[in-house]
This record gives sequence, structure tokens and C-alpha cells, in this order.
Amino acid sequence: MRSGIGAPSVLQAAGVSCHHALPAVGENLHDHLLGAGNVYLARQPVPPTRLQHSESLMYLNSADPGVAEGAPDVVLGCVAAGSVAAGLTPPAPGSAFTLLFGVTHPSSRGRLAITGPDRGAAPVIDPAYLQTDHDRQTFIRALQLARMVGAGKALDAWREAEYLPGAAVTDTAALQAFIARAAITHHHPVGTCQMGRDAKTSVVDGDLKVHGLDNLWVVDASVIPSITSGPIHAALLAMAESFAAHF
Ligand SMILES: Cc1cc2nc3c(=O)[nH]c(=O)nc-3n(C[C@H](O)[C@H](O)[C@H](O)COP(=O)(O)OP(=O)(O)OC[C@H]3O[C@@H](n4cnc5c(N)ncnc54)[C@H](O)[C@@H]3O)c2cc1C
Repeated sequence: MRSGIGAPSVLQAAGVSCHHALPAVGENLHDHLLGAGNVYLARQPVPPTRLQHSESLMYLNSADPGVAEGAPDVVLGCVAAGSVAAGLTPPAPGSAFTLLFGVTHPSSRGRLAITGPDRGAAPVIDPAYLQTDHDRQTFIRALQLARMVGAGKALDAWREAEYLPGAAVTDTAALQAFIARAAITHHHPVGTCQMGRDAKTSVVDGDLKVHGLDNLWVVDASVIPSITSGPIHAALLAMAESFAAHF
């Protein structure tokens, strides 16, 4: 955008001359959110781990967790500690474990834009999390599945009681209010230079070359048009390796 590539109105507002109009630059921002978390007080001391306390991720079909085919739409993560968003209070170390829960394919889309021509001018970043019914409802379903696992027989020896959101939190409004407080980023923002065929709705083509320019490519997370189910780094490495091999 600072080079003059983007939506003319956005560039003009930031005081940058438009050299190449590409309205999709900065649009389509999306990310994985995690609910932190469905926390349980433990019946016995939870020992420290060698894995940053983050033990495992489980990807599920929310309509039928027994189905293994197709892209999973929710994720659960097991943390051997009380893991909560800022503003929520975790139990003491060693006294709790957590099931994180999240939506793998959000339909909400945010955007980013420059606010001025200089690098020192902070961009505006609007992640627009949880803007769609799909995302809010799937998030509630993810929490329900976390609770199902948390209440399961396999954890009987570890579970004393649910600490967050707490047994009283059951109706839709209360669940949504809890999710709004508990949601944190999984650090996977993508999409602001999305790949596609049409210069009106995308920024780079299938070879990662910027539409309409002969000598400019983008090779990073911003070209991902629609986020992977899981963490994105492996997909990025594959993209970068294949770009390097064919460039
Ligand atoms: C805390 C955290 C944890 C994560 N954990 C995981 C995980 O467990 N698994 C997973 O798959 N993904 C994880 N991710 C996501 C993953 O790390 C990122 O999606 C990925 O690194 C993005 O790759 P990128 O190439 O798009 O950008 P980056 O990896 O951010 O690379 C951009 C590079 O450009 C450089 N740069 C910036 N500006 C300039 C400039 N003006 N001139 C020259 N160089 C510049 C930066 O220094 C940087 O090296 C995590 C991210 C975070 C923040």
C-alpha cells in the first residue's frame, strides 16, 4: 500500500498516490481464534510438562465428532495448566488443566489499511472476529465438545470440577458472553493479499505474481485465500519451497 498498490480510496485517505489499483489489498483478513478456556480444577497435582504445557490438538467435525472425513470445523487443545485469556483469572499452577476450543474455518473477514505514507504510521487492523452467525454458533459447539471431553470418563481421575466457564453458564447468551471474553488469537492471520484469478477480488495469481505487474510476487501468509484447518506454518513452507523451486 505504501508503494501505491491497493484500493485507490484507501491509498488516497492515507495520502499515498495510487500507481496500481488493486482493491483486494488489505481485505479478507482472517485468523484462527481459540477459547481460553474450558478450565478444570484438578483432583490431583498436574505435573509440569516439557511441551510448553500445550499437549495436543484434536480436530473434529462438529456435527458428528465420529466422522473422520472432510475438513474439520472445530479444534480442541489440551493444556496441562490453567490457560485463560487476559482478564480471566487462572487457577494456581499445578492445580488445573484446560481444554482450549476454536473454529477452524471462520467466515468472518476483517481488513487492514495503512494510515499514512510513512513506516512509522501504524496501520489500522480490524480482525472483525466473530461477526457471522456461523462463527458464533460453531464456537459454542466447540465449547460444548470441549465440555463433553472434559466431563468424559477418561478424565475422571483428573477432574475435580469445571472452573470456567462454570456449571451455571449454559444458555446461548451466557455462552456467547463467555466466548467474547475468552477468545484469543491462535496467531494465524492470513488473507490480505489473497491468491485468485480475478484482479477485482484477489491480489496475486496462482504463481503468486501480483495481478497486472510484471515483476512483483508475494510469498507469505497473506496470499492464503482461505485458512487451513490447522496451524498454517507447514502450508507456508510448502508454498515457499515450491515457489523457490519454480521461480
Ligand atoms: C506466537 C506465535 C506462535 C505461533 N505458533 C505456530 C505454530 O505452533 N504452528 C504454526 O504452524 N504456526 C504458528 N504461528 C504462525 C506462523 O509463525 C506464521 O503464520 C508464519 O511465521 C508467517 O509466515 P510469513 O512468512 O507470512 O511471515 P513471518 O514469518 O512473519 O516473516 C516475515 C519476515 O519479514 C521480515 N520483515 C518484516 N518487515 C520487513 C522489511 N521491511 N524488510 C525486510 N524484512 C522484513 C520479518 O523480520 C520476518 O522475518 C505462530 C505465530 C506466532 C506469532
